[in-house]
Amino acid sequence: MEILNEIKFKMPSLSVNEAAARAVVSSFLIQTDPTVEELSDIRTAVSEAVTNAVVHGYRHGKGDIELTVRLLPNREVYIRIKDKGCGIADIEQAMEPLFTTAPEEERSGLGFSVMQSFMDKLKVKSSAGNGTIVTMRKRLSEHGV
Ligand code: ATP
Ligand code: MG
Repeated sequence: MEILNEIKFKMPSLSVNEAAARAVVSSFLIQTDPTVEELSDIRTAVSEAVTNAVVHGYRHGKGDIELTVRLLPNREVYIRIKDKGCGIADIEQAMEPLFTTAPEEERSGLGFSVMQSFMDKLKVKSSAGNGTIVTMRKRLSEHGV
């Protein structure tokens, strides 16, 4: 993977850091002059993944969340969100729309669907007890560049 630019941001699993992660991604991606819609899609996808790490990965307990944002050739944005929480036993089931293990928290089971529809690619690597790594990619449009 040829990396043109990269940042890494490590934060504790506090829900206030969902906003911090969105802000970090936005500030880094300003250099690509994204459209408002592209930036909004990416911010939402990052937020969903960070929320999942806080709520499900660490079940509102303590732990670190690592966010990596890379700029790749051809205006491709690569994002990785990693936690060392409880992990996901059945990834296929977890990614089904409306599947949630936290209905009592009024979760709707749509986070992965949102990530999937707002980004071009979504990959989830996880197993029970070993944390979760979510990677996403999105190619930005060439508008006026
Ligand atoms: P919503 O995102 O709509 O509030 P949700 O978080 O339950 O609801 P998804 O984001 O699609 O829905 O996640 C589906 C399920 O996958 C979760 O209910 C949870 O069981 C599991 N999951 C997702 N991310 C993680 C994670 N980082 N660690 C452990 N389990 C996860
Ligand atoms: Mg979610």
